[in-house]
Amino acid sequence: MTLTPVAPLPEHEVRVRAPGKINLSLRVGPRDEDGYHPLSTVFQAVGVFEEVVATPSETFELTVSGPQAEVVPTDDGNLALQAARLLAERVGIDTGVHLHVVKDVPVAGGMAGGSADAAAALVACDALWRTGLSRDDLLDLAASLGSDVPFSLTGHTAVGSGRGHLLTPALTRGEFHWAFAVQHRGLSTPAVYRAFDELHGHDTPAEPDAEADVPLMQALRAGDARALGAALHNDLQTAALELDPGLAEPLAVAEDAGALGVIVSGSGPTVAALARSRQHALVLAAAFTASGVADRVLTAAGPVAGARVVSATD
Ligand code: ATP
Repeated sequence: MTLTPVAPLPEHEVRVRAPGKINLSLRVGPRDEDGYHPLSTVFQAVGVFEEVVATPSETFELTVSGPQAEVVPTDDGNLALQAARLLAERVGIDTGVHLHVVKDVPVAGGMAGGSADAAAALVACDALWRTGLSRDDLLDLAASLGSDVPFSLTGHTAVGSGRGHLLTPALTRGEFHWAFAVQHRGLSTPAVYRAFDELHGHDTPAEPDAEADVPLMQALRAGDARALGAALHNDLQTAALELDPGLAEPLAVAEDAGALGVIVSGSGPTVAALARSRQHALVLAAAFTASGVADRVLTAAGPVAGARVVSATD
C-alpha cells in the first residue's frame, strides 16, 4: 500500500494523553542469548498521565515540563523523539515536528513514563501527519521502540508475554485504587535485571510461570480488590530492594496503613499500594507523606485507556 501523508497546516496542534502503568504481576525467565529476559506480566494502566503536544516544525525538537523535567533527555535519546522519527521514516514525511512533553509519570520509576511518551508521540504524529496507518502498524512501530510501548498504546489491563510486548487483553470489573510512593533517585532497569541475574541465575525456571497468575486474573474478573492485593507479585522486587534497601520503608508504611497489597512497581523504585477505596488511597498517601518515605506521593485509579488524542486544532 502506498501512503500519501497530507502536509499539516502550520498552526495545527495535536494533544495526546498516555498513562503510566504498574505490573500487577511480573514473572521473569532466564536471560536469553540476546540478553533479554522472557516475561509473563500483567499490566494495568493507571490514571497518572503524560501529555504530548505535537506541532509542525522543520526539524525534530522536544521540550519538557513538569516534575523532574530537568532529568529527562531532550536529544535523540528521548524515546518520544525516536518515535516521531521512526514514524516519519515509515510514511515518508520529510519535515520534522516539535513535541512538548508534560510529564507527570515518575522518571525512571518503573511506571513506563518514557514508553508512555513514545506511544503518545506516535499517536500525536500519526494524527498530525494523517498517515492512514492502521492500529496494527502503530503497534508494530511501538514494539520496535521498546517492550512497554505497545501496552502504553493499548492501556486498560493486559497480559504481556515475550519481552512484555505480546499483549492479550484481560477482563476486569470496576476500578482499583492505588497510592504511589515516588523516589526521585530512580533505578536503572538494566541494573535491576543484572541484580536479578546474580540473585537467581541458577534457579530461574526456563519459562516464567503464567499459570501462577490464575488467582490474580480471577480477582480482576471479579473486581475483588482484597484478592487482587493478595495476588500481587514481582520477581524483580528482591533485586530492586538489594540495590535500594530504603524501599523497605514505604513497603512497611503501606502495610501498616492497611494496604490490601503493596509491591515495587516493575523495576522500581516506585512503590504501589492497593487501597480499599478512593478514600483509603488518600489515607495511604497521607501515611507515605507523614513518614517521609517518598519524594512525591500520588494516587490514581486503574484501569484507564491507552494513548488517546484529547484535542486537535486545524
Ligand atoms: P520502565 O518502567 O519501562 O522500565 P521507567 O519508568 O523505569 O521505565 P522511564 O521514565 O521510562 O523509566 O525512563 C528511563 C530512562 O530513559 C530515563 O532515566 C531517561 O534517561 C531515559 N528516557 C528516554 N526518553 C525518556 C522520556 N521521554 N521520559 C523519561 N525518560 C526518558
